[in-house]
Amino acid sequence: MKALVAVKRVVDYNVKVRVKADGSDVDIGNVKMSMNPFDEIAVEEAVRLKEAGKVNEIVAVSLGGKKSEETLRTALAMGADRAIHVETDAKLEPLHVAKLLKAVAAKESPDLFLLGKQAIDDDANQTAQMLAALLNAPQGTFACKLEMKDGEVWVTREIDGGEETLALKLPAVVSADLRLNEPRFVKLPNIMAAKKKPLEKLSPADLGVDVAANVKVLKVAEPKQRQAGVKVGSVAELVEKLKNEAKVI
Ligand code: AMP
Repeated sequence: MKALVAVKRVVDYNVKVRVKADGSDVDIGNVKMSMNPFDEIAVEEAVRLKEAGKVNEIVAVSLGGKKSEETLRTALAMGADRAIHVETDAKLEPLHVAKLLKAVAAKESPDLFLLGKQAIDDDANQTAQMLAALLNAPQGTFACKLEMKDGEVWVTREIDGGEETLALKLPAVVSADLRLNEPRFVKLPNIMAAKKKPLEKLSPADLGVDVAANVKVLKVAEPKQRQAGVKVGSVAELVEKLKNEAKVI
């Protein structure tokens, strides 16, 4: 049983991003970058499945610039066995990523694809769904529990007002939600050991995928500044302000 985990290098979730002065994009020069938090959860889940004897190989894949290698080394330190870096400076859209992952899968034939539910930079939440469609494979998105049972993967999903459990035939695509697990803290010896694990380099051309843009960003803007609130002294004052200032009652 082989698991393929997709890990994206994104702006760290603690960073407050700023919009470039010309409004063309956000400015990510000199900001801390990390593995997408949902991808960390996906890697953790793959490692737990391996520890439980359900998976015997974990391949981490990242697509992006040179530094995506760092993200792959983190995945290797967490417990992935080997890594594939599809190196490109192109601005990848979810459809490109899904096509590239499909092409990697054609070489690797994984049984289980684990992705994050969404990348916190573009908030697209599209890649897992597109990959499943391109592979003609079943999908379990927003997973909060995952079990391997008799050649199927059982995925419990967070849905409005509750949970739903699906049994998916393999190969299947699963995207990790926040409550699936809590990723482990990576220890120094594992970081050192990860440096020696295999990391293969490929390009979109090697995989026969065209990564020319289909979508153009027209404008990026900061959210409107909100005015500070006020504290009222009594219910009567609140009612008076709602009536006469806000004019909502
Ligand atoms: P998105 O559809 O962009 O919100 O991304 C959903 C998931 O797809 C992420 O959590 C990753 O698991 C995977 N993914 C998206 N972009 C990349 C990338 N450039 N490299 C590796 N995985 C990616």
